[in-house]
Amino acid sequence: MPKLSDVLTALHGLYDPEWAESWDAVGLVCGDPDAEVRKVLFAVDPVQAVADEALAWGADLLVTHHPLFLRGVHSVAATGFKGRVVHSLIKGDCALAVAHTNADSADPGVSDALARALGLVVAGPLDPSAADPEGCRGIGRIGALPEPESLAAFAARAAKALPWTAAGLRVAGDPARTVQTVAVCGGAGDSLFAAARRAGVDVYLTADLRHHPASEAIEAGSPALVDAAHWATEWPWLEQAAAELTAALAASGATVETYVSRLPTDPWAFHVPSTT
Ligand SMILES: [Zn+2]
Repeated sequence: MPKLSDVLTALHGLYDPEWAESWDAVGLVCGDPDAEVRKVLFAVDPVQAVADEALAWGADLLVTHHPLFLRGVHSVAATGFKGRVVHSLIKGDCALAVAHTNADSADPGVSDALARALGLVVAGPLDPSAADPEGCRGIGRIGALPEPESLAAFAARAAKALPWTAAGLRVAGDPARTVQTVAVCGGAGDSLFAAARRAGVDVYLTADLRHHPASEAIEAGSPALVDAAHWATEWPWLEQAAAELTAALAASGATVETYVSRLPTDPWAFHVPSTT
């Protein structure tokens, strides 16, 4: 049975912490490197419900995309929800590791999983990493649908491909417009509007789009926009990461059991369409 340190070596082989943005906080949050790891649960958010799910399943390691702590803390007392998560995991002998922007920029990374879920053939990163001379790593992906289709059909495709959320999808653009080339960015992607426009794609699917950047991008001749729930755009990566980690460990003769959380941790609980 592999030790946590072996599993982390495999995880970091897939998602090198060096690839993370300078503001990010990735890697091991809690856990003993010498502890044995048999079961690994993957989830987007390190919230209490996910920690409880990991412990109920008997996970030895929880891998999340989002960091539990992004900034320095002076206490992990269980008086706050983050401290409670840490206490729960340590008491339950479950480690926590984070692969965030290092997983975004990996090849394959978070946006590859999103692109594949949508049925795209991926051509390359939307914003290539300057640190990768081969141009394979970077944030977001550019790809194409096998056949052109209407924006309305593409939005329906995305709604079917991504896990259910109360918010669903918001779309900017003529529903009858034909689209084939697509840019995607798992998670908040409004910083990549300019890159999507430069790439000349027909539609850009991402999450967390805000009024002014979206409005200005449309006015500036942007691609059509599809705004999905942040959690939903990153969730497809979990299956990909679980399969990749299993394969990486198997290559060194180690076996772990993996499980992908389906708990919807999108914070928006319900959606009310306008009626006036
Ligand atoms: Zn995210």
